[in-house]
Amino acid sequence: MTDSPTYGFDTLQIHAGARPDPATGARQTPIYQTTAYVFRDADHAAALFNLQEVGYIYSRLTNPTVAVLQERVATLEGGVGAVCCSSGHAAQIMALFPLMQPGRNIVASTRLYGGTVTQFSQTIKRFGWSATFVDFDDLDAVKAAINDDTRAVFCESIANPGGYITDLDAISAITDAAGIPLIVDNTSATPYLCRPIEHGATLVVHSTTKYLTGNGTVTGGCIVDSGKFDWSASDKFPSLSTPEPAYHGLKFHETFGPLAFTFHSIAIGLRDLGMTMNPQAAHYTLMGIETLSLRMQRHVENAEKVAVWLENDPRVDYVTYAGLKSSPYFDRVKTICPKGAGGLFTFAVKGGYDACVKLVNALEIFSHVANLGDTRSLVIHSASTTHRQLNAEQQEAAGAGPGVVRISIGIEDPADLIADLDQALSKATA
Ligand SMILES: *Cc1c(COP(=O)(O)O)cnc(C)c1O
Repeated sequence: MTDSPTYGFDTLQIHAGARPDPATGARQTPIYQTTAYVFRDADHAAALFNLQEVGYIYSRLTNPTVAVLQERVATLEGGVGAVCCSSGHAAQIMALFPLMQPGRNIVASTRLYGGTVTQFSQTIKRFGWSATFVDFDDLDAVKAAINDDTRAVFCESIANPGGYITDLDAISAITDAAGIPLIVDNTSATPYLCRPIEHGATLVVHSTTKYLTGNGTVTGGCIVDSGKFDWSASDKFPSLSTPEPAYHGLKFHETFGPLAFTFHSIAIGLRDLGMTMNPQAAHYTLMGIETLSLRMQRHVENAEKVAVWLENDPRVDYVTYAGLKSSPYFDRVKTICPKGAGGLFTFAVKGGYDACVKLVNALEIFSHVANLGDTRSLVIHSASTTHRQLNAEQQEAAGAGPGVVRISIGIEDPADLIADLDQALSKATA
């Protein structure tokens, strides 16, 4: 299939990037379980190593199965290119790597996946990078946090764990004015519910571990490039705009234009950091993406039913689902994720920490796991698990205080999910 922007999402999620296997005609994308590829001759090998010709050298850099997934995610997000890697956290480091240098910083939302808060507040310091966390609903605070050393602004479209929605249009207006890229983690929304590039994102990152694969089988990550950022407009991004010594002085932006970031991520990022996705993982994720829209519709339908039921239950203090009319984020659903607010949210159980722990133990259909975006419904008490490394203030700012549980609503029968929550709430608050 020739990828045409006129095809609808449901068609592209099945066909984008894939074509019958040129060797065998296999209709499903084969798992190219190989580390290396035979060069036609010495000149061909030299041209590939010089980036003068695009092709396969070694699977740390590129692999045909992974390449199909890259093209598919890029197409669904409306980007020009994508690079897959071994996990969502790898994708975040790979996204920052071409932009950063020692002494540079990022401005990040306080409402992020717990592991991301830890990665940004602790681990990146080892590279000489730092992060300033601010409330992204406070646009003046975002503006004020950006300084001459800021090289990216980072947020989630639908933020884990609370399902809060970020006003991407307002944030991208700020990053555009400052001449720095906006990176949006679109894991919880998926491109079916939200397309951050249409709201001004420069790069979109994913944990493909979650909804894109959809069934809790493999970890993976992806970075999609909008192709829209002018890396040469200032001297802030020398990795992309100035001569690269490892490639005989090649300038990525000048040579590859809108694909500069993607080529850099493969030729330098994967080459030297080695956070590569393996072809088996790409296969599982490709299988998952084929049904993405169908699953997301059901996740949203079920989440709405469960959230309304919980909100009306006297044993529950409050529910954070943005799809509820009572949510301060309700109006943003229409502009940022018009097909629904996703399947992830938190709720507060009367009785606080102890009641939350009892609830998690009493649930039967909901599995107690550190994952989200599975076909099965999942539950976790964030404060004692995913957000455990955070201090109390960070937990509250992230929406992961001790009195709330996070649920990821699956695609089971919604009546069964409600019945399970009903019996568990009785035990938790008895
Ligand atoms: C899970 C998750 C990540 C990290 O992804 P891994 O695949 O677990 O490394 C990042 N962001 C969000 C929103 C996530 O849910």
